[in-house]
Amino acid sequence: MVKFIRLEYLEQFLKNYIREVALPNPENSLTPYILPNIFCLRDLYSDYIKKQNEIQSNIQEEQNEPVSWGKFHEFWNENFKYCKKLNKRTDFCETCCQLRQAIKDNTSPKNQLKAKEELENHLMLAREARNAYNEHLLKTAMEDHKVVLSFDFAESVLLPFLKDTPSSFYFKTRRKVDIFGITDEQIVDRIGNIQTNYIIDEGHRIPKGPESTISMIHHYLTFNVPPDTSLIFYSDNCPGQNKNQYLIGFFVYLVTVLKLYPSIEIFFMIVGHTKFSPDSHFGTIKSLLKRRECQSILQTIGTDGIIRKSAVNNIEIAYKTPNEERPN
Ligand SMILES: [Zn+2]
Repeated sequence: MVKFIRLEYLEQFLKNYIREVALPNPENSLTPYILPNIFCLRDLYSDYIKKQNEIQSNIQEEQNEPVSWGKFHEFWNENFKYCKKLNKRTDFCETCCQLRQAIKDNTSPKNQLKAKEELENHLMLAREARNAYNEHLLKTAMEDHKVVLSFDFAESVLLPFLKDTPSSFYFKTRRKVDIFGITDEQIVDRIGNIQTNYIIDEGHRIPKGPESTISMIHHYLTFNVPPDTSLIFYSDNCPGQNKNQYLIGFFVYLVTVLKLYPSIEIFFMIVGHTKFSPDSHFGTIKSLLKRRECQSILQTIGTDGIIRKSAVNNIEIAYKTPNEERPN
């Protein structure tokens, strides 16, 4: 029993750590979480020992005793295979890569120290941003009339999407389909957070920019968010689509002129560390796309479509299906 309780503490500690630090991995559904390049299991074990020593609760001493390094290592390997450490080659952040390279290359100790300090500050900022994001998710889960929405564009999909590319495809341009996802970060029981994916066919494409982003956010709010709800938005840093006067102006208009929502806050993720919920949803869609062949946009929509089949918490809205376009 004591052994069981100790492992339960350990499991909770590791789960909390992953929730705070890990990022969703859009590339691989077998390892859906990635850990930062600086991750070290030994350091994590030291943190665990420190935390255990800090706990001054009323639990029996025997139960509070930390597990050995061997057991910790074994437990991690057995239960947390779904987390993969980010290696230097797959690091998404240009700043991190450049600073790491500067630390490695620089012969002058002064410059090396400067690069080290810069990297530490940059990573601290990224960690703080991630903590703020996680805190918002936790808080709003307990509050009514408050929602956290994250939105982003996925990389465009080219259709037909086939496992083996016929040689003739190299001479043709395939149809481009855009996907814009808005995730409601509220966790729904046994489903998770739900993402609405807007599917935009090439013929209806509006260039990615404030006009398209605002149109889809407006559509989403109209049909999904009741008035009098306080909104918190998360997006990446792209100035073309998100961090611009038009989107901010639109939010101000909703709050001060239309008085639809009492408050709207928008947060931008730190450049290079922008992996968040929409990416994990795009990851599940793309992994099904890779396993199944897709001839046209019609196969992505509807209850049997690729979007809904990819995960229960992925739904889609097609701007217009090809059928709707045909004159009756
Ligand atoms: Zn970075």
